[in-house]
Amino acid sequence: MKHAVIIGGTRGIGAGIADVLAGKDWSITATGVGREEVETYAADHPGTRCAVLDVRDTDAVNRFFAGLDRLDALVNCAGILARGAEYEIDVFETVIDINLTGTMRTCLAAQPLLSASKGAIVNTASMLSYFGGPLVPAYSASKGGVAQLTKALAGKWASDGIRVNAVAPGWIETEMTEALRADPARNKPILERTPMDRWGRPAEVGALVAWLVSNDASFVTGAVYPVDGGYSAI
Ligand code: NDP
Repeated sequence: MKHAVIIGGTRGIGAGIADVLAGKDWSITATGVGREEVETYAADHPGTRCAVLDVRDTDAVNRFFAGLDRLDALVNCAGILARGAEYEIDVFETVIDINLTGTMRTCLAAQPLLSASKGAIVNTASMLSYFGGPLVPAYSASKGGVAQLTKALAGKWASDGIRVNAVAPGWIETEMTEALRADPARNKPILERTPMDRWGRPAEVGALVAWLVSNDASFVTGAVYPVDGGYSAI
């Protein structure tokens, strides 16, 4: 059975990806940063291995991957945003550390295992990999960086047999976007700007990830795929 690690897999989009992959007979390890969140997820998913892992902690990330026997796919889904606070430099640095440097940390630590299995990485970009978000300069910079990091690592590790791609979700129903959905003044323009006129679901991101880590995508690397109901098309 192939083994996938979903970083940020105990909640939101990552949990949706974990469910889809588990349904396709992958064995899953899901990580989160909050002990309570991870324990809640573990209680609901008895067949899934779970771990607390802060992607800001290089030693912890290295220890986590060194403890694995086998890895066929790494999915990086940890991320935060701090709407309205990202002009404070400490906040800016924290968002970059988690969203961008954290992605690089896990990719570096997973590389030997993925080289052995000829495995795949899927990173999580965003619509703000393409557009700037005036209220979230750090999030925008981090997600632009994730898209470019994905391409750089794809080029570097192709000779190891590792494919590296990213998904760029549009507006997806998770806790991160709860406040936006609850505010009619914010929700309306998002739906008006989304041709499919609805929010996406974590499982719909999971379906794309499942394809990217499968052999069906064996010639696909260095790509950033929108899954956005058409948001980036118009
Ligand atoms: P959630 O807030 O629901 O989940 C975020 C996840 O990241 C949680 O599992 C959380 O762990 C984990 N996490 C946060 N900080 C750290 C850290 N320091 N170390 C390790 N893990 C951490 O967000 P979403 O599911 O909405 O977002 C998931 C990804 O998708 C993010 O990268 C986000 O930027 C991206 N995205 C989301 C979109 C959306 O519309 N929702 C759109 C485009 C991109 P814990 O549960 O323990 O707190």
